[in-house]
Amino acid sequence: MSLLLTGIGVSHGIAIGKVHLLQRGEPDVFEYSIPSELIDKEIQRFRKSLTLAKEQLREIRHTIPNNAPTDVAEFMDTHLLMLDDQLLSKVPEHLIQQCQCNAEWALKLQRDELVAVFDQMKDPYLRTRRNDIDHVIHRVQRILLNQKTQHPFSSNVKKRIIVADDLSPADTVMLQNQHIAGFITESGGPLSHTAILARGLGIPAVVGIHSALELLRNDERIIIDADLGMVVAEADKITLKTYRQRQKDQRDYRKSLISLRDIPAITQDGRPIGLQANIEIKEDIRALKQVGANGVGLYRTEFMFLEREQPAGEEEQLYNYRKVIRALKGKSLTIRTVDLGADKELPSYYATEIPTLNPALGLRAIRRSLKDIGRFKEQLRAILRASAYGPVRIMFPMLTTLEELRQVLQLLEDAKNELRKEKRRFDDNMAVGSMIEVPAAALSAYAFAKKVDFLSIGTNDLIQYTLAIDRIDEEINYLYDPLHPAVLKLIHMTLQAGRQADISVSMCGEMAGDVRYTRLLLGMGLREFSTPPATLLEVKQTIIASDVNSLESQCKRILACQESERIATMVQKLNQ
Ligand code: PEP
Ligand code: MG
Repeated sequence: MSLLLTGIGVSHGIAIGKVHLLQRGEPDVFEYSIPSELIDKEIQRFRKSLTLAKEQLREIRHTIPNNAPTDVAEFMDTHLLMLDDQLLSKVPEHLIQQCQCNAEWALKLQRDELVAVFDQMKDPYLRTRRNDIDHVIHRVQRILLNQKTQHPFSSNVKKRIIVADDLSPADTVMLQNQHIAGFITESGGPLSHTAILARGLGIPAVVGIHSALELLRNDERIIIDADLGMVVAEADKITLKTYRQRQKDQRDYRKSLISLRDIPAITQDGRPIGLQANIEIKEDIRALKQVGANGVGLYRTEFMFLEREQPAGEEEQLYNYRKVIRALKGKSLTIRTVDLGADKELPSYYATEIPTLNPALGLRAIRRSLKDIGRFKEQLRAILRASAYGPVRIMFPMLTTLEELRQVLQLLEDAKNELRKEKRRFDDNMAVGSMIEVPAAALSAYAFAKKVDFLSIGTNDLIQYTLAIDRIDEEINYLYDPLHPAVLKLIHMTLQAGRQADISVSMCGEMAGDVRYTRLLLGMGLREFSTPPATLLEVKQTIIASDVNSLESQCKRILACQESERIATMVQKLNQ
């Protein structure tokens, strides 16, 4: 009988292969005291181990393939930097002296201190950074203990499925170089660097299967279904055959999508559709190029301000924007000013602020920017200056009132005047857009449309605020319904407002990248989509197979319907 194990799928795809168990665990570290006259020698031993650890990491870094995502090298650099940080290089030396203990133990003491700080962090992403500390410290401890690390590459692991307690980013890079089929770890979550790497490198991976090392045997054939977060051991012939077929189908499907990369997004009845991508960090531009996006429809700049001690200043922002502009080679870049607050937790430099009870309804996005004019102006100046280097559009999140828009436009004008006085270059005609993500703004879309150059519908928030459901609350997630008639009405009103005012309307919320809604949106009049890079080609495939003329009449009926369930059935029909 098959054994089914469930965990968290952190990437996509199916892997079928033989198990390679990687039994490592934490190094066993014991305390022993060092006589005063040998303290200096112990410190030397510690320093040597740090040097060796750095050499090992540098060696691994050299093996990163050129086509690997940039994050891969960055993770390795982070680990190298950690080894140079005083907290890991100097503090353990003090501990050796103060406690007269061995280097391994001093490192353990320092590790426990650092991990305790990380464990207290509210941000789940930052909390997972404790793993990086463990990976780096365990490497040094193993060197000190003269332990031969069981490297994943020490035996032939080609086409194998690696099962380990945990994998560091360095391990993951090495495994990729060995062409493994997939991996399973006992610990870890979707936000760990290893998970991010698995997604970026396209390795099917399931994490969080707690007793994987006990339950799975070396050399047995297993199946990983990363999309479902599932592992099947001892699969019978029929299951194995089904999964092989699914694996082949997925491969063929991905290949067929790639062939759409350079094909224009034109519908069957000849309508060209704008298809751009959303990015969070400048490095995402690589993924965007791989799918041939027609520019960036949403650059979420707040990621430049999260997870940092200090906010990114004007020059750093300009540097980042210019990098993206250069990579886009003449394609348009839509930069959204910061949307901090609510689920995008405030960085530490806002720590003095009193926490609000209802952050999604509080000082978020443009509201926050308008309270912090100094920083906002810096961003406006950086975006304006970036516009001198390529086609840039600026966009404001969460506008609710025309008064906010008036203030924002005035500040933009002030920033332009400053730059003129300083004789700095910028595009005086840079397009200005408003996001429509609050029902009040959708209901007033025409008034907004008369004052800006474009609108962009943020369905993630529009749905949250229309249906009064917190978009990150698991409990009420079932109510998050893009097909609620009220949501469709607001989207339709916004599209109509754009048409009346003769300005473009795009959509950059997740709904634009969900292929189940592509036809509906086309039929409702959407002509510009901005999707996550991963879903862009699927959306393109649907666009080029669609006939907007026939969709329009069907969508009129959908818009007249008041029941979500019936709407869902009608949309399903539309997709057949
Ligand atoms: C949206 O709300 O749909 C949107 C694109 O903005 P974010 O997801 O960044 O809030
Ligand atoms: Mg939003």
